[in-house]
Amino acid sequence: MATVTPQHKPKKILTAEHSGFCYGVKMAVDKAFELAEHSSKPVYVLGELIHNPQVIEKLQNQGVQTVQSVDEIPSGSACVIRTHGVDPDHIDTAESRSIDVSDATCPDVRRVQDKAMELAEEGYTVIVVGKASHPEIVGIMAHSRRIDGSKIVAINEPQELHAALEGLPTTKIGIVSQTTQKEDTFFQVVAEVAKFARELKVFNTICPATFKRQSAAEKLAHEVELMVVVGGKNSSNTTHLAEVCREIGTEALHIETVQELKDHPALTKPETIGVTAGASTPDWLVQEVIDYLQSL
Ligand code: SF4
Repeated sequence: MATVTPQHKPKKILTAEHSGFCYGVKMAVDKAFELAEHSSKPVYVLGELIHNPQVIEKLQNQGVQTVQSVDEIPSGSACVIRTHGVDPDHIDTAESRSIDVSDATCPDVRRVQDKAMELAEEGYTVIVVGKASHPEIVGIMAHSRRIDGSKIVAINEPQELHAALEGLPTTKIGIVSQTTQKEDTFFQVVAEVAKFARELKVFNTICPATFKRQSAAEKLAHEVELMVVVGGKNSSNTTHLAEVCREIGTEALHIETVQELKDHPALTKPETIGVTAGASTPDWLVQEVIDYLQSL
């Protein structure tokens, strides 16, 4: 490959072994496009189907509307539930209004919901290691709260642990994780809780797709001078990929589209560049980035 930058430096572009769409995202996107094509009813998605603005825009161009509340969906419509899952009350409300619900909650997210409910049923104070405002965590906590006497908190960093548990029983603690959490963060929380809980039950619910993408990104980041991480700025798993690269000292650019790379000063020096993408990033966006880097 004869590639020359404006500064006449040869560049080598390497891609991570695991990157881009995971099976959960692919299933949800396929389901939404299929409904857009074949449903005789107007199609809505409750919350963003996945955290990728370019895919949401494509769906919108196909007539699929994203709404933030079930109240915005007219009775008799079709509704797709996002990969991150939702509060089960919303599904009950939709069904009571004759809305056809297609549940695209990822099976790995469903597993976290089930484990959080199981722990609550067994009387554990439940900790979810994840961002409280993230839709996946909102859905997990809402599932757990359906259990009488449920006690559940979300923390995103080990430092938040003691404040979050204030006033709650801490002898029996159960821990689950957001599917896209960084492993290090999850293990740090588990280690901290083990210091004071008399009984501790842990389910590592980080999904295999996240684990593989983080490991592959870290491995590649060791081999290159710069990483380009493609994916939604609101995507947790993409953000964590960039963090994993930076934590080992490799510069990482988190971009949504190739436009952000045009004339970027960080591209002038490195001779080896690695490319990876979050689980909600479609192949065509990644290919545009690779094509651009190869054209330099
Ligand atoms: Fe499912 Fe994991 Fe993909 Fe999220 S990242 S949709 S949990 S497979």
